[in-house]
Amino acid sequence: MSGGKLAIGGGVIGVIFILAKFLLGDGDISDLGQLVQQPQQQQTEMTVEQKEADEKEAEFVKVVLADTEDVWSKLFSDMGRTYTDPTLVLFRGATTTGCGNASASTGPFYCPADQDLYIDLSFAQDLKTQFGATGDFAMAYVVAHEVGHHVQYLLGMTRKMQQLQQQVSETEYNKYSVRLELQADFYAGLWAHYDQKMKNVIDPDDIQEALDAANAIGDDRLQQQYQGSVTPDSFTHGTSAQRMYWFKKGYDTGDFKQGNTFADESF
Ligand SMILES: [Zn+2]
Repeated sequence: MSGGKLAIGGGVIGVIFILAKFLLGDGDISDLGQLVQQPQQQQTEMTVEQKEADEKEAEFVKVVLADTEDVWSKLFSDMGRTYTDPTLVLFRGATTTGCGNASASTGPFYCPADQDLYIDLSFAQDLKTQFGATGDFAMAYVVAHEVGHHVQYLLGMTRKMQQLQQQVSETEYNKYSVRLELQADFYAGLWAHYDQKMKNVIDPDDIQEALDAANAIGDDRLQQQYQGSVTPDSFTHGTSAQRMYWFKKGYDTGDFKQGNTFADESF
């Protein structure tokens, strides 16, 4: 990031719903990006304000990540396991990853192939402007959700899903994907539960911000917003109601064992 020239979203504000899934390399590269595309990138000099906003956001994401490390190290240790930290890659514009190329339109994601957590700094702004999820804690939820995917990787869930993907139809796989994603939401809530317990840093407003964010990025909500209709067979992350339910369940119970979304027969 030298010279101050970075690719940032240009004047064309268009949001295009892309049905194609970005299944690259070993992992589903994106949690949101398949839904949103920024059609043009322009090389633009960043303003001082933008740089400051980026630095502030980067600092916040790092703090959240450090907190997830404290919580998950403790929970893994309680289970007789060892937690290894994912590596955080903050970028703006584009970057290459173990799961293929990522750009500002990809959205935050976890790549199991390199165990890196990729976050485009412009996404914090997108959360507010495109998804209407305001407040610091919306971003904390997103980071904690991606860390949830890392937890799934460490517990062997990701590998099982990859095997499954070879064996079942796309529609069938989508149903498993929803359960995987809702479990990552549950883990995000679980993290918030223990973060509060260990550090006393979370207040009810924070939880509401996380729930608002979960609400804003449910498949039904996004499809309605960008596609104008809802097709449940293509859901990969769960409805807004499901995403809020599982985050809250993790937060309220603080019980790791209650996060088995795969065994839940209510959906
Ligand atoms: Zn996810």
